[in-house]
Amino acid sequence: NKQVVLRDYAEGAPKDSDMEVITNKSIGVNVPQGSNAVLVKNLYLSCDLYMGHLMHKTQGGLDVFTPYTPGSVIMGYGVAKVMDSGHPNFKKGDLVWGTTGWEEYSLITKPEDLFKIDHTDVPLSYYTGILGMPGMTAHYGFYEKCAPKEGEYVFVSAAAGAVGQLVGQFAKLMGCYVVGSAGSQEKIDLLKDKFGFDEAFNYKEEQDLDAALKRCFPEGIDIYFDNVGGKMLDAVLLNMRNHGRIAVCGMVSQYGLEQPEGVKNLMHLVFKRVRVEGFTVTDYYPSYSKFLESILPCIREGRIFYAEDVAEGLESGPSALAGLFRGRNIGKQVVVVAHD
Ligand code: NDP
Repeated sequence: NKQVVLRDYAEGAPKDSDMEVITNKSIGVNVPQGSNAVLVKNLYLSCDLYMGHLMHKTQGGLDVFTPYTPGSVIMGYGVAKVMDSGHPNFKKGDLVWGTTGWEEYSLITKPEDLFKIDHTDVPLSYYTGILGMPGMTAHYGFYEKCAPKEGEYVFVSAAAGAVGQLVGQFAKLMGCYVVGSAGSQEKIDLLKDKFGFDEAFNYKEEQDLDAALKRCFPEGIDIYFDNVGGKMLDAVLLNMRNHGRIAVCGMVSQYGLEQPEGVKNLMHLVFKRVRVEGFTVTDYYPSYSKFLESILPCIREGRIFYAEDVAEGLESGPSALAGLFRGRNIGKQVVVVAHD
């Protein structure tokens, strides 16, 4: 059973060399007698930023997931096929998504947390992205936290990523004016040409983020879907309109920093009567089937496009995961362990 394990705790942004691929003895082909565990063959693994927190010695408040320790298998979301089951809800051959190990086969001891995959007319890898955790993050974060209205001015940061590309497209479907920021020209082209953003800019090439936002939003921003925090958030605060909303999804620019950057322009929340709200996607998991009902038709009818960055083989896992922190991924970063 080939596995990706944590070699040693990461310092700052995770690096490929913080992880290593090892071959461990087989875990057997059956679930142990009397156990309600499920044995799965892993097909697609999801690279997600929260996994970086779990690689550090201290996680800074992220207590929903179990942190990794040196030598432990990297755990994350994935799509898998059930090979044997001691649980009444699952049988051999079922496809599932949920938390699994970065290895060829995993014994899942809490199968009740897995979601069964019933719709296979769409790419299975989508259950790591648009039909999984990032899709729900974009959906509930945008529709519930941003309370969007037709014609509003929407800004999304890390807009070419797993979550951001969806938020922008949801906002376009809603009839909003949408601008995204991302870190390369290739991503900017994707935002405008493929996802239909009205405008996009490369934040790495802007001397003055406030000026870039004023250029794109001469009348100000109604909704900011924040994926990055830091300097961008500070510049956005200066450009919010009255009664604007900021959904704080994440703050990737601050991950791994010893000293998080201070945000200076908070008084603009008062001046502009802005509502800021953080949220955590796991709170919405009980609504998964409702989410599927709304998103599946959008995919099937071609109203939403989903970009994936697919790395082949478990061996490519460490660099794919570390790449998130350097902006190497274009779209949702997936690792293929096996195609079926
Ligand atoms: P992405 O697929 O967007 O991958 C990460 C991207 O972040 C990179 O490609 C890079 O793009 C950008 N990035 C990396 N470092 C920096 C930096 N220093 N400053 C600005 N951008 C940076 O990730 P996701 O779409 O999966 O995640 C987006 C956000 O959503 C994250 O903040 C994540 O933590 C959060 N999240 C929150 C959840 C919740 O429940 N609240 C659930 C899931 C995700 P670029 O080239 O543009 O720099």
